[in-house]
Amino acid sequence: MLKKIKEIAQGYYNLFTGNEEELMNNRLEICTVCEYNSTPNEITNVSYCKSCGCGLKAKAASPDSSCPKGYWNAHRSTNKS
Ligand code: SF4
Repeated sequence: MLKKIKEIAQGYYNLFTGNEEELMNNRLEICTVCEYNSTPNEITNVSYCKSCGCGLKAKAASPDSSCPKGYWNAHRSTNKS
């Protein structure tokens, strides 16, 4: 649980600072057309993953996050919780 909170905080920080933009965009290309995207075929500010419930932009901007369905992986592993 603490790990997930850290990932969400990391994602929102990166989202607002522009860090990890390329990583985020690459992941969001996959999320855009995923069946679990709450806003099919587009990513909006309210798009979330129907599998894990996370906001997609912040989730994709967090290097430590991973797709719950395995469509993309964590960019690096912290192994900390
Ligand atoms: S995080 Fe994974 S399951 Fe969720 S919308 Fe993106 S690609 Fe689909």
